[in-house]
Amino acid sequence: MSLVFDEYGRPFILMREQESKSRIKGLEAQKANIMAARTVTSILRTSLGPRGMDKMMVSPDGEVTITNDGATILQRLQVEHEVAKLIVELATSQDDEIGDGTTGVVVLAGALLEQAEHLLDRGIHPVRIADGFEEACSIAVDHLAKISERVEFSADKLEPLVLTAMTTLSSKIVNKHKREMAQIAVDAVLSVADLERRDVNFDLIKVEGKAGGKMEDTELIRGVVIDKDFSHPQMPKFVKDARIAILTAPFEPPKPKTKHRLDITTPEAYAKLAEAERAYFDRMIRQVLDSGANMVVCQWGFDDEANHLLLRNKLPAVRWVGGVELELIAIATGGRIVPRFEELTADKLGKAAVVREVGFGTTSARMLVIEECANTKAVTVLVRGGNRMLIDEVKRSLHDAMCVTRNLIKDNRIVYGGGSAEVSCSVAVGRAAESFSGTEQYAVRAFADALDDVPMALAENSGLSPITTLSEVKATQIKEDNPFIGVDCMMAGTADMRTQNVFETLIGKQQQLMLATQLVKMILKIDDVIAPHDYF
Ligand code: ADP
Repeated sequence: MSLVFDEYGRPFILMREQESKSRIKGLEAQKANIMAARTVTSILRTSLGPRGMDKMMVSPDGEVTITNDGATILQRLQVEHEVAKLIVELATSQDDEIGDGTTGVVVLAGALLEQAEHLLDRGIHPVRIADGFEEACSIAVDHLAKISERVEFSADKLEPLVLTAMTTLSSKIVNKHKREMAQIAVDAVLSVADLERRDVNFDLIKVEGKAGGKMEDTELIRGVVIDKDFSHPQMPKFVKDARIAILTAPFEPPKPKTKHRLDITTPEAYAKLAEAERAYFDRMIRQVLDSGANMVVCQWGFDDEANHLLLRNKLPAVRWVGGVELELIAIATGGRIVPRFEELTADKLGKAAVVREVGFGTTSARMLVIEECANTKAVTVLVRGGNRMLIDEVKRSLHDAMCVTRNLIKDNRIVYGGGSAEVSCSVAVGRAAESFSGTEQYAVRAFADALDDVPMALAENSGLSPITTLSEVKATQIKEDNPFIGVDCMMAGTADMRTQNVFETLIGKQQQLMLATQLVKMILKIDDVIAPHDYF
C-alpha cells in the first residue's frame, strides 16, 4: 500500500493488485493442498468394495443421482478448490482409460496424501517424497505383473469373462442380479468384438433405459432400439424383411432459406400453389417407393400431408430420429444415410429382418426395435427398472462391466481383488524399501503403508475391524506364500480371492497405482499458491 496525492493535493491510498490476492507458500501450501484433496478422497472411502455405500446427490436444479461409481460421485460434487478438482480429474481419467476402479484410485491417492503429510511433518523434503513414491510405484507395478495370471477364454468358453464382470458388479446396485447383468455385458461386448485383433468397437453398443418393469427384465437386443414410434397411429406395428430408407431430407416442400414473401391474389394462383405442393409430396413418396423401400426413417419432421400420404401408400415411417441414432441404424442395417430423395436407390436401403414397435405396460411410451440387421454387429441393452435414478445407475454399472470385459479382451492378465493385490505389493515394496539409503527409504515404506489402506477400507466398509483384518491378511499371505489372500468382505468363509473368483484386470490395477502416484507427486511439487482473495 502506498499513500499518494492527486492533482488537488488530496491523499488517497494505492493498493497493489498483488495484495488483493491471498497467497500461501512452502510447507503451508503443500499442507493446504493435501487437506483440500483429502477432504474429497475421504468422501469416497466409504463407497469402496462390495459392501460400500451409495451416495445421493442433488444438483442445484433438483436432479437426484444415486450412485456408487467413484467417477460419477466426483463429477456431481460441486468442487471449488482447484486441487480438489484434480482428484475429480483423477477419477475421470481412470474412467476414460479403464472404465472401472475409479473409487479405488481415489482411495489410494487419499492414502498416499496422508502418508505424504506425515513425512512432511517429519521434515522430509517434498521432492524426496515424490521420488520415493515414484520408485515404489514402479516396484509395485512390476510386482503386479509378477503375481498376475492369465485367464483363458474363447468364443465358446466365456465363463472367466462373466466372472470378472461379476466382480465389478458386486459393489453396485445390481448386485442381486449380477450374474444376469454380467452375462448381458459380456454378450454385448463379444458381439461387437474382434477377437483376432483384440479390438472392441464400443460405438456399436448402445444402452437405452426405459422406466418401468423390473431390473431383471433388462435385455440384450441384437439390433437397435430407438426411443421413437411410427409417425401415424394406424401404421403397421410390425415390418417383416424391412428395407429402410434412411433420410436426412425433410418430407416437406422446399422453402427458400432467406425471408420470402409470396402474394397470392387470385384463386387460380392458390390452386396452382396447392397443386405444386401436392406434386412435391407425390414425387417424394414415389421416389421412396421406386427405390424398393418398405419403411422410412427420417431425421426431420413430416408435414401432415406427407404423413397421410405415407400411411395411404403403406409406408410406415419414423420421424425426428436423432443424428446418432440415424448413424447407428445405418451401420446396423448396412444402409446409407441419404440427404436427397433423388439419390435414393435400392442399394442404399438398410436391411433388417424385423422392425417392431414395443409398448410398455399401460403407458403410452413406445419404442422401435430393429432386429436381425444386415450387419448384426450393433447391439442395444434395454435397461428396465423402477425409476430413472435406478436405471441410470444400472447403466453406469453395465458400462463398468463392459469396460472390464473389453480390457480383458485387450489383455487377458488379471490380479486378484479384495485388497489381496495391494497387500502383496505392500509386502514387496516394504521389502524393497530396505535397499534404499537416504530419506527415500521412508517414502518407499510410506507407499507400502498407503497400499494397506485399500484392504483396510474394504474391511471397514464390511463391518470388520480394519487393523485386525489387515494384519491377518498380511500374516497369512506371508505364511502361506499366497498373494491371493484378501479381505473376505462377503463372509464367504475363505479369504482366498482366487477361490472366491474376485478378480480385476492387471492393466486396471496398474493404471490405478500409476495415476494415483502421478497426482500425489504433482500436488507435492506445488509450493506456492497465489489466488484471488477469500480463496483459502
Ligand atoms: P471401483 O469403483 O474402484 O471399482 P468398487 O466399489 O467397485 O470400486 O470396489 C472395488 C473393490 O472391491 C476392489 O478392490 C475389489 O477387489 C473389491 N471387491 C469386489 N468384490 C469383492 C468381493 N466379493 N470380496 C472382496 N472384495 C471385493
